Amino acid sequence: AVPVAIVSGVSRAAKAGVLVKGGKAMETLARVKALVIDKTGTLTHGQARIVEIRPVVGLSPEGLLQLAASLEQASKHVIARALVSEAQAMALDLLPPIAVAEVPGEGLEGIVDGRRVVVGGVRFLSQRVPNAARAVADGHYPVGSVVVAVAVDGEPAGLLILADPLRSEAARVIDSLRRLGIARITLASGDRRDVAEAVTVGLHLDAVHAELTPDRKIAIVQEEKRHGPVMMVGDGVNDAPALAAADLGVALGAKGAAASAEAADIVLLVDRLDKIPVAVQAARRSRRIAL
Ligand code: ADP
Ligand code: MG
Repeated sequence: AVPVAIVSGVSRAAKAGVLVKGGKAMETLARVKALVIDKTGTLTHGQARIVEIRPVVGLSPEGLLQLAASLEQASKHVIARALVSEAQAMALDLLPPIAVAEVPGEGLEGIVDGRRVVVGGVRFLSQRVPNAARAVADGHYPVGSVVVAVAVDGEPAGLLILADPLRSEAARVIDSLRRLGIARITLASGDRRDVAEAVTVGLHLDAVHAELTPDRKIAIVQEEKRHGPVMMVGDGVNDAPALAAADLGVALGAKGAAASAEAADIVLLVDRLDKIPVAVQAARRSRRIAL
């Protein structure tokens, strides 16, 4: 049987907007020693803004964004949603994409207006379009910006450069968790290394892992287990396997993917990271009472 104090801890957490799926999750939460955290949509708020549109010669910036955002309507990725809302803000007509295939956390391809469009990270595009790597490699981007590459009918079509800043509470939350004795804090991102390092520069993380596939995120979680029980916090479809592999998976539920909320032991119902240290404290209090 689950002690009464644990049950009341679960209901206290729920009032704070933290859904804890059962007494075992509550107990693990009290014992967490290491945190692995995702970047895009988790440490950053994910409401990225376009800072620059760089089409190849012959395409207009609006034309490039229109094709990319039309395809991104099929994706739930935070960067996809940001591109769609930026296109809508510019009053661009979004066309329905067909025959869409997505690789979660990397990008997607499909047909828009009779043209084959590919949108995603630089690595994703390079795997599908022969000249993509060269077309984007010599560019300079503002430090820490998210770069989305686009190809149309097998040719590089341009870049969309976005700013996706840290959540305002990020540094404070990392600090609180350290003071609560979570001694190991590492980043696990699917994004480029330079972006991951630039964005986390003031956070004093123990390690920054970037350019990770969902499988590599699992491996990072497994490695961290030598420090004690591991909490993984993430938002995306590509985080779901790592959330399941952690001792405690925490998903951002308000805006995150359903797949990550399902894989998680704890779902943050409000879109704020400061609920995490609050939940750790609640878990410790209910455990002390239960013992
Ligand atoms: P993180 O692991 O930090 O949350 P992701 O792996 O989800 O990051 O995304 C990393 C990068 O992959 C993004 O910054 C973007 O460049 C690219 N990407 C992934 N999915 C998409 C998409 N649907 N549209 C455009 N870019 C994408
Ligand atoms: Mg993410």
